[in-house]
Amino acid sequence: MNNAVSAQDDFAFEVVVSGVPMSLYYLSSVECVNVDIGHRVEVSVGRRITSGWVVGRELLDEVVRRILPEKRSRAQAKAKAEQSTALDKKAAGKIALKPILSSCRAFSTDQFELFKWIADYYGASLADVIDNAVPTIKHSKPIAVARLAEKAFSSLKNSPKWLSDLANRASVQAKIIEVLQSSVSPVAVSVLNQISPSSNSALKALLSKELVIIEELVQGMPSQEEFLADIFSDPTPKLLTHIQAKAVQRIVESIRARSFSPYLLFGVTGSGKTEVYLRAIAEVLDSGGSALVIVPEIALTPQLLGRFRSRLAYPLAVLHSEVNPSERWEAWHSLLNGDIRLAVGARSAIFAPLKNLSLIIVDEEHESSYKQSEGLRYNARDVAVMRAKLANCPIILGSATPSFESLINSKKSRYQLIEMPERVTARPLPQIEIVDLSKVRRADMISENFSQPLYAAIDAVLKANQQAVVLYNRRGYSSYMQCDTCGEVIKCPNCSIALTYHKRRNVLLCHYCDSSITPPSLCRYCCDPKTTRIELDEAGLSSGEAVPQVGQLVHRGGGTERVDIELQALFPEARIARMDRDTVSRKGAYKEILGAMHSGETDILVGTQMIAKGHDLPGVTLVGVVDADVGFNLPDFRASEKAYQLMAQASGRAGRGAEAGRVIIQTRQPHHPTIVALETNRFKAFARYELDQRAALDYPPFGYLMRLIISDEHLDKAYECARMAAEELRKLVAKRTDETLAVSILGPSPAPLERLRGRFRWHILVKTTSRKLISQLARAMYGWKTANKKPDSFRIAIDVDPLDMM
Ligand code: ADP
Ligand code: ZN
Ligand code: ZN
Repeated sequence: MNNAVSAQDDFAFEVVVSGVPMSLYYLSSVECVNVDIGHRVEVSVGRRITSGWVVGRELLDEVVRRILPEKRSRAQAKAKAEQSTALDKKAAGKIALKPILSSCRAFSTDQFELFKWIADYYGASLADVIDNAVPTIKHSKPIAVARLAEKAFSSLKNSPKWLSDLANRASVQAKIIEVLQSSVSPVAVSVLNQISPSSNSALKALLSKELVIIEELVQGMPSQEEFLADIFSDPTPKLLTHIQAKAVQRIVESIRARSFSPYLLFGVTGSGKTEVYLRAIAEVLDSGGSALVIVPEIALTPQLLGRFRSRLAYPLAVLHSEVNPSERWEAWHSLLNGDIRLAVGARSAIFAPLKNLSLIIVDEEHESSYKQSEGLRYNARDVAVMRAKLANCPIILGSATPSFESLINSKKSRYQLIEMPERVTARPLPQIEIVDLSKVRRADMISENFSQPLYAAIDAVLKANQQAVVLYNRRGYSSYMQCDTCGEVIKCPNCSIALTYHKRRNVLLCHYCDSSITPPSLCRYCCDPKTTRIELDEAGLSSGEAVPQVGQLVHRGGGTERVDIELQALFPEARIARMDRDTVSRKGAYKEILGAMHSGETDILVGTQMIAKGHDLPGVTLVGVVDADVGFNLPDFRASEKAYQLMAQASGRAGRGAEAGRVIIQTRQPHHPTIVALETNRFKAFARYELDQRAALDYPPFGYLMRLIISDEHLDKAYECARMAAEELRKLVAKRTDETLAVSILGPSPAPLERLRGRFRWHILVKTTSRKLISQLARAMYGWKTANKKPDSFRIAIDVDPLDMM
């Protein structure tokens, strides 16, 4: 039988389903005759109906012969019993295989190669990879959500007993308040209704008391058009500078040559990288190809999108996890059909099903948000490079502070380096001044967080009607609360991490699991009201007097909320806005804050790393870094690299308009290599210094890492499993083919974040100079994990090329 003339029902379809280790085979059915590779299908597995992906198509005869010998003989026996006359293999297969229940086209066949590579490289199943890549089909209805009203916040804050009083009178109402208070985002009414049968009437009561607000949430963003602020449109094409023109020319040549050519576009902030992207994309679209742009966080790029929309005469799909699911699915299909040829999105957009892909751009390629830190732990930048390779097209990795991985790749000529060392406006990079806080006496500080020079600089900016950006890379009011008597720090009940105090909501919040508690007024360890302490006199003798324990809780460390409050006190006339995860959680808030800054309605913008991202705010002439040391001392070999990137990005916000910029960095470690390099703008020298240290230890980018994180609710089980995993790894390494290859296995040891969401965590680190070996080990450990996995037992996360070492 010949494939070309075979009818659909001569075939069996290979389907992968998440959680099932082997491929399954099904027949097409009357309802879905168009089944093909790349379809999402519904099939029955055992007794449940589940969705899976068609990854292969084979002649039914072959399948029956190869994988179903015993099923076939059963079928034959059955057929004989039924005295069927012409029993051929096809009939046997039809009896043995179940039909596909429904099917729908979901990805293109050329994406398939990429999915296989990812599964292979990161040690994951093909089904999990595709589940991750393709958006789920959902028909979104607006859902009703509830959140606390201002009145509730102030009651909670002003009277500590308010909630318990309410609980005595109306327990369900109090429970609802508690749930809403502990959740960062609004809670669906359907969830609240599960609290108690009387939830509904309790909610009504809370509504009438104006303690709770109910609103409709169309999941995710509003329409894509609305999402784009007109303020950011910029329709005038620029006359390219000489350097830009050369960069564009090189890239356009590769586009025309249709060859895999990776470029590292290393251009300082304001050097006009986006303009280069625009020209390259226009070339691709004009010649009928399609282009894919990935950005670190789509919510942070209204500006980039505004420029794209106003300059490119082609429709554009914005892919984003918060775009509502039906819109996302629509956008996905327009790309799959080739109706839209330009896609812009965050990490997962790297899977967008573009036809005839001719260019990929990874903006801010050094950003750690390209790495997915849960589930399938892929890095979208690395996947992008592989995708360009498979599609035979150029890829541009753009950054002002490239990752060390990419720097080394350009040094080894794996990437072509394009440098843009100057700003287009011929405006010099801002001048960087360091304030050594270790030399400033507490009494000489203007406030807790502001030294005289930083204060004076902000003051001068305000007087000149310019704008300032103030960076503090930690949200909340104080980073932890500590007992002044016994030193106890209040920790999350589920994680081994201190809780951060948020003043406005008056909660102690865990930044890892989002759970929260109302801050106690006294330490619960040394201030048991039932116990007392005997006062001793200077000679150590008891005065015989018993006094109650003290144990006051005091705030330690700062946060954006606190910096915001200090600034309000220091500059009461100034219009101050704050941008961090707390203030942008409301829909549209991000755009509003940035828009107000852009139009000059805000004088000072305080925020976390969010404010450092590619915004082009021409009125900003001062960037203040309140505490540079926040990032240095984390247990992570990339801490300095990340701190440098963040501060260089932040500095790049200053002086992008007509006036020159100034940057003031407060630190207690003015001689730290990161600070010295920043001060003198010597990124390359800094990179060399850091790279030397990494080379000595075979750390990336010289060696490759895999991290296994083993977790369980019980400490001993977590350890036991970690020990077994390490043993297995050591066995695998002993069996490696190339014995000269150095491999070290570190651990198992408790992860720096020993407990997370109630689970104890151990980790094992594998380090070697062979990328291939890391992938082999990842695959083998995936197999081991699947074979040893029982429901409700330990979890093992396999992290190839980990970024997060916590
Ligand atoms: P980057 O992405 O490297 O930070 P941008 O592309 O955002 O830089 O450019 C910085 C600013 O300079 C933008 O306001 C942009 O419109 C402007 N710009 C870019 N290229 C040119 C040019 N050739 N002539 C004039 N202005 C330009
Ligand atoms: Zn105490
Ligand atoms: Zn927690």
